[in-house]
Amino acid sequence: MIRLAGVGVSPGVVSGRAVILTQHSQALRYRVTPARLEQETARLDRARLRTREQLVEIRARVARRRGPELAALFDAQLLMLDDPMLVPRAAALVRGELVNAEWAVQQLFHDLSSEFDEVADPYFRERKGDVADLVGRLTMNLRHGVATRDLLREVDEASILIADELAPSLAAQVDWTRVRGFATDAGSRTYHTAILARSLDVPAVVGLHNASHLVLAGQLVVLDGDADELIVEPDAEALARAGRWADDRRPAKGIEGEPRGPGVTADGVRVHLEANIEFPDDLAAARYAGAEGIGLYRSEFLLAGGADAVAEDRQYEVYRGLLEGMAPGTVTVRTFDVDEDQLQRRSSREPAARGWGAEGGRSSGQGLRGLRLSLKRPEFFRVQLRALLRAARHGSLRIMFPFVSGVGELREGRRMVVEASAEIARRGEHAPPHVPVGAMIEIPAAAYSADLLAREADFFTIGTNDLIQYCLAVDRADERVSGLYAPLHPAILRMILMVRRAATRRRIPVSLCGEMASDPALVPLLVGLGLTEFSMTPGAIGLARQALAEVRHDELRALARRVLRLPTVEEIEHELAATLQSNLERRASNVES
Ligand code: PEP
Ligand code: MG
Repeated sequence: MIRLAGVGVSPGVVSGRAVILTQHSQALRYRVTPARLEQETARLDRARLRTREQLVEIRARVARRRGPELAALFDAQLLMLDDPMLVPRAAALVRGELVNAEWAVQQLFHDLSSEFDEVADPYFRERKGDVADLVGRLTMNLRHGVATRDLLREVDEASILIADELAPSLAAQVDWTRVRGFATDAGSRTYHTAILARSLDVPAVVGLHNASHLVLAGQLVVLDGDADELIVEPDAEALARAGRWADDRRPAKGIEGEPRGPGVTADGVRVHLEANIEFPDDLAAARYAGAEGIGLYRSEFLLAGGADAVAEDRQYEVYRGLLEGMAPGTVTVRTFDVDEDQLQRRSSREPAARGWGAEGGRSSGQGLRGLRLSLKRPEFFRVQLRALLRAARHGSLRIMFPFVSGVGELREGRRMVVEASAEIARRGEHAPPHVPVGAMIEIPAAAYSADLLAREADFFTIGTNDLIQYCLAVDRADERVSGLYAPLHPAILRMILMVRRAATRRRIPVSLCGEMASDPALVPLLVGLGLTEFSMTPGAIGLARQALAEVRHDELRALARRVLRLPTVEEIEHELAATLQSNLERRASNVES
């Protein structure tokens, strides 16, 4: 038994198997059961083959364009890829330590880096860059489009998350019915972790220094938020304490969840909080979180069910179920946001696995996507619009077009809505009620023509995930450039303000549904920019509510004015952190006095 001392920021005692998350390398370490070992090493092998194919392709391309000398640089990487020191050694780690392949590859890189650093010959030392490049590619291929947050949803029940640090946006993606508590190396009672732990209502201990290195994935731990400690391989007494806490708590956990309602700032400004969902089953989570409506239903996930799942009647049932389940709240259904490849797979009989079509799998270079593709392939679009319009009389529906880049596309999309409505009437069915039709603002061109679009759209929803990637030229699914993906870039904040102003001028509603809305540290700033409607992952709604209750609207307007004058992401982050911290301290001193 080992006791690690930290700072308890949320009370309670829980036990579970450790899941390790180290964010700086974006590597998640979890235990692989012996039964899944073969699968895990096969994954490693597939990633190696994919990496080989890519490198051979790159080498050929470089040879064609730049000549054979430069292309030979990739020979070194190809040789390393087949060297027993890399993939076979990683596979041995997976088997020996029962850990996941991503972690094994990262661990190996760490060991190899130190070996390279010790070599005196500068030529060999430089090869470290090649290894880093190769390991990055191998890791990317291992994930094959599965983002860390998707992995976080798949952890075993009764886990304890041990992270170097826990960003709120990531915390919001964790399935907290499986993860019983969290511990972090970093932090004291900082703003973020304190809010997080309180809102999630799970025990938490922070400031453990190196727990994420000391504890092995799958080890049994007891997290004690009352005694400020994490106990590794606990004794029977510690486990019994966790058991008693769970027993005492059980009746207190209501099944109703949070009451539905807006977030409210300390000075009474109401902020509308809705949920983003991908599957009809997620409705329960949205309701549990107290969402006022569904601000984004990513309907393209229906395509994962194969051809039958997108037949008109099946779609109608799904939309009707969402509308009735969320009444009296509004449900905003985004029409299919896929590219051509993804649409093609739809005709396959095999339903794809859950997670298909997730953001990581979307090709960012692909311009024929969203509304553009729907207009080019009207046979799918018409079916979807008819199903939506038929469902509209069962609740409050809004139809939203993704990937709009200009007024022409919006008009064409709207024209098809009118046609679909007429077609339903022709069939002798109920004439559909009026349904608001809006545009996602997620392409810089749309942001810059927001004043024009606002004249013809019934509402706007700002999709910052894509807006950031296209504005900053950073592929959101490519971990290698993830450091450049900066939601607080001055250009992004200005665009958001521009879109909000255009909507206000035409008096149309505007909400924001990108990941930025799921970060409770950013929501106050966005409110300062004038936004009062958000849609986020259900787990983040409680966090946003908590964060808003602690700030005054007039102070947020002032914060936004200061931030808009700052020229770099670092200065903006600093200003934001300083303001939030001083709010926290002021509240703490008010409580004491
Ligand atoms: C966005 O782009 O911000 C968005 C919400 O849509 P998606 O993440 O599905 O592209
Ligand atoms: Mg998008």
